[in-house]
Amino acid sequence: MRTKQFKAESKKLLDLMINSIYTHKEIFLRELISNASDALDKLYYQSLAGELTGIAREDLVIRLEADKEARLLTIRDNGIGMTAEELEQNLGTIAKSGSLNFKQENEKQEGIDIIGQFGVGFYSAFMVADRVTVVSRAVGAESAYRWESAGATGYTIEPCADGPERGTVITLHIKDDTEQDRFSEYLEYYRLAALVRKYSDYIGYPICMEHETSRPKETDGDKPEYETVVVDETLNSMVPLWRKNKNEITEEEYNDFYQNKFFDFEPPVRVIHSHNEGQATYDALLYIPARAPMDFYSKNFEKGLALYSNGVLIMERCADLLPDHFAFVRGIIDSADISLNISREMLQHDYQLKLIAKNLEKKIKSELQKLLTTDREAYEKFFAVFGLQLKYGAYSDYGIHAENLRELLLFPSSKDKTPVTLAEYTERMPESQKAIYYACGESVELIDALPQTGAVKAKGYEVLYLTDNVDEFVMKTMRTYKDKNFINVCAAELDLDTDEEKDALKAENEAAAKLFTSMKDALGDAVKEVRFTNKLGEHAVCLTSVGEVSLEMEKVLNAMPGGQKIHAELALEINAEHPIAAKLKTLSDEQLKNYAQLLYAQARLIAGLSVDNPTELSDLLCQLMCQ
Ligand code: ADP
Repeated sequence: MRTKQFKAESKKLLDLMINSIYTHKEIFLRELISNASDALDKLYYQSLAGELTGIAREDLVIRLEADKEARLLTIRDNGIGMTAEELEQNLGTIAKSGSLNFKQENEKQEGIDIIGQFGVGFYSAFMVADRVTVVSRAVGAESAYRWESAGATGYTIEPCADGPERGTVITLHIKDDTEQDRFSEYLEYYRLAALVRKYSDYIGYPICMEHETSRPKETDGDKPEYETVVVDETLNSMVPLWRKNKNEITEEEYNDFYQNKFFDFEPPVRVIHSHNEGQATYDALLYIPARAPMDFYSKNFEKGLALYSNGVLIMERCADLLPDHFAFVRGIIDSADISLNISREMLQHDYQLKLIAKNLEKKIKSELQKLLTTDREAYEKFFAVFGLQLKYGAYSDYGIHAENLRELLLFPSSKDKTPVTLAEYTERMPESQKAIYYACGESVELIDALPQTGAVKAKGYEVLYLTDNVDEFVMKTMRTYKDKNFINVCAAELDLDTDEEKDALKAENEAAAKLFTSMKDALGDAVKEVRFTNKLGEHAVCLTSVGEVSLEMEKVLNAMPGGQKIHAELALEINAEHPIAAKLKTLSDEQLKNYAQLLYAQARLIAGLSVDNPTELSDLLCQLMCQ
């Protein structure tokens, strides 16, 4: 027997892997179990092809054994096994240098455990073991062989008299670093069982492990007594729900799976289960939750779907599969196209992921659309929880998703204060109405009470009531919907008047020009102009923004941390038909100053703003009350 040397490259790779900064050492078990499952698959296929006889699927099994004292963890399969040549070929040659480069380049990329992409899965055993023995007997072979290695130093292969009847037994001598004791956990039944459930739950063969447990003994006395027994447990659930036929799955099964897997105590609003073939082949089982996780609207929230390849977990949250606007979707994707293997496939893999992500986005959108048209109540509930995310989506990235998302948006409106879609709004617009009107404020009630809203409603036009900070930005981003402009009723150009009305108002404003100049002087920079309006009904004053920035936007932008202070340009508008208009014309300069201040303060309060100096306001009011 001669100790053979690993090639220099291999040494480097092995070293790198063993000593690198993997936080996920635990994936070694996934890799070894996946290999065992592959070996069972190969055997089973050969028997199906008629090349082997006497193989029964129910006899195929993967076994784990842990010996704490000897620090040995064994993974055993009765699969196809390896000949001496195969041991040499498969376990003596580590990935080529391309893989090494690849790994180094991708070290920064978070999330994916690169090991799984390498075709070096087996060697991940050395992350937790200082010595690995593989005893294998190929199906039909006379003798078994033992491959053994203590890592970078090389490996030996020799015949082995006491090998298994068929298949492979991999024994890891688990590292013993006494101070930190980072590895003993891989000898614990509970830890191993949890790892199997996490990564290998859907492996199609039973993964069994014997372990000791105590159970109550049957006794005559009142006191319960316990005895320790050894039970043989199957650790994995084997058949992934998403691989089953849709019509074989009950709603309860769908919901149970969701609630157990994603730790939600409420059943989901919608289940999307699809099997796709074509450019990308994958199964998708997606859920739209009924409620948002606590941190959903915070920076801490991590979106993503669980990504499986042939039932083996690759990543718990693959963010690339979901656009931000659908971040609320939970679920799993299983695609054989996403290989655990070989670096050169990585490019293709990336492409596959993008393709899947694109399909998923379409699918989720159409499902939401379906929900909107078939179950309005459920959709409104959904929108109350996640609508904000859709709106952020429509607004973000300079609005590139706006067109895609706009049909999914709901806004309460003046009609009956219930949410409407833009399509519904525009479909019932009277012919004379040219634009889509909206108003912003803290609540539907406050917006409904705005003087400006009243004017548009009086005209017989519906007004959308925007209460979320992002709403107006969404409108500005969309700019138009079906060629209709969005107009804020608190902005200047409402264009509701007939030509005669416009002319009459213009004349009144011209006649009062001097009056307004004095008032404007009294208010300084607070307003850009003071003028009459005819749109206020019974109300006396309002503030109207005259520039691009509305009052609502000013509020939102200024509330953002670090943003520079932004000011909406404002006009103080006074109802030309209100008695106050006539009164203003009778006042002295001094009185006019005070009235201007008072009217401005009132208009601010109506717009949901604070007054600059409440004490001064109160003094002024009292002064007036005492006259
Ligand atoms: P990968 O599984 O990604 O191809 P590995 O380094 O994990 O890469 O394994 C290398 C090869 O060794 C496998 O492709 C397989 O041919 C062989 N092998 C590993 N484990 C087993 C096993 N339990 N039974 C049979 N063959 C195995």
